[in-house]
Amino acid sequence: MMMRPAPILTTAWRSHIICQTRSRFISLRRYTSRRSNHNELPSYIKYGFIIPMTGLTIGSVYAYYSCLDYAPYTNRKRLICTNPKWEQEMGHKQYKELLQKFKGDILPADHRASVTVQRVGSRIAAAAQSFSAQYGQTNDTTNATTSPYTYTVVRSPEANAFVIPGNHVFVLTGLFRYAHNEDDLASVLGHEMAHNLARHAGERVSESILMTILSRLVLILDPTGILFTLLVPAQQLLVALPHSREHEVEADKIGIVLASEACYDPRSAKIDFQE
Ligand SMILES: [Zn+2]
Repeated sequence: MMMRPAPILTTAWRSHIICQTRSRFISLRRYTSRRSNHNELPSYIKYGFIIPMTGLTIGSVYAYYSCLDYAPYTNRKRLICTNPKWEQEMGHKQYKELLQKFKGDILPADHRASVTVQRVGSRIAAAAQSFSAQYGQTNDTTNATTSPYTYTVVRSPEANAFVIPGNHVFVLTGLFRYAHNEDDLASVLGHEMAHNLARHAGERVSESILMTILSRLVLILDPTGILFTLLVPAQQLLVALPHSREHEVEADKIGIVLASEACYDPRSAKIDFQE
């Protein structure tokens, strides 16, 4: 019995089905391969964004806790990332520059005004020493009192007094129009020494460092600069001005403590600051 050859059409049909199945299988493999690739992020996102952002977040948290500090007496929480010794070195440098600037107007040490400032200032400085021993537990405010105090009285119509880091006290003689007695002068010097004791200068420098870092980051994230132009006035309004006010109130509080510890009448502070 002779076998009938398979019809050509049937053989062709079978080949077609096999080809179709193979191509579907290959497509499925390609599809699943594509799916698995989709689950992995492109390397430019992985290495160009996620890793730097993770590093930045960890760095920011570390920097925050490293710079976290509490102001003496008021226990106000603040960020301060400058070293007290560095602040003092900057103060000594500024002191030399100011001596140069006021050269010719500095009253001699035996002048009546200089003697008075020296006497009142020394008593306030002694009070600052005991204040630091009592309240300087959480930060390095004790370092603020290790340098010896200097007192410089400058002939000037301006009514002003200030203390720069490194314990350099400056009094401009225009102040004596308002400070009528030693109690008044003690209130002013107490307030100015309080700024120094609470390291407000270091705090302002820290703020400007943090602001510079933030500005750079904002410019990286938004190269158009729109966010940056909003950032500067926002920082002034929301950070700089409130902090400036906080510093003044804090210096008033600590200054009254210093003046009363030095046995001056702290009620003079009210009159001084009103004037
Ligand atoms: Zn002040």
